[in-house]
Amino acid sequence: MREYGHISPRVRENLVQTLKKQGIKDLRVLEAIRNTPRHKFVDEALQHRAYDNDALPIGNGQTISQPYIVARMTEALLAGNKPGRVLEVGTGSGYQAAVLSRLVKEVYSIERISKMLPLVKAKFAEINIKNVKFKHGDGNQGWVEHAPFDAIMVTAAAAGVPTKLYEQLKMGGRIIIPIGMESEVQDLVEVVKTASGHQYKFLDKVRFVPMRSGNI
Ligand code: SAH
Repeated sequence: MREYGHISPRVRENLVQTLKKQGIKDLRVLEAIRNTPRHKFVDEALQHRAYDNDALPIGNGQTISQPYIVARMTEALLAGNKPGRVLEVGTGSGYQAAVLSRLVKEVYSIERISKMLPLVKAKFAEINIKNVKFKHGDGNQGWVEHAPFDAIMVTAAAAGVPTKLYEQLKMGGRIIIPIGMESEVQDLVEVVKTASGHQYKFLDKVRFVPMRSGNI
């Protein structure tokens, strides 16, 4: 089902073409971006910019990630296989979770700022997404009741891979996470859990808001 609202399909298609030119190859990811109404995840005043390839403010000092980064992280998460159960840390606007919901069976998403969640839940009801569950809490703790996860995506900048997230990952599973809290720019990395330890791969330079501990 396509929910274009009042935004022309061409505007959305332009974004998909831009992402292709920037190197996004996974057709499943491009299709998920094409079919996710990003204009529903930004403030009304910014809706005309919803299909620009930019990060945008979403209140509470947080941002909805740039579509290229959402696509890049989603592509890395899916690489080689199709995870069934995914944990996202940093719900924010809910856009990344909405993209993931089109690609995997179950999505679990944690946000530390409680007042951001009611709006996100209302949007998911409105666009009829049913396979995403939200939790208010500190993402550093993961979500043990639903572990282990096939893959984990962290959408806030961390100092390192949180131990509990690594523990809650299946063998062979991967974490996509921006690492670095010292500067505004972080290393987006992929960490794969293997029997002989972990494999670490640099993916890109990114800019995320910091991952904080505790919840408010
Ligand atoms: N994925 C989001 C963008 C993330 S912005 C989207 O698609 O819009 C980063 C989010 O991470 C913010 O909402 C911030 O409050 C949240 N966050 C920061 N530290 C966190 C933590 N320890 N646990 C859970 N969420 C956290």
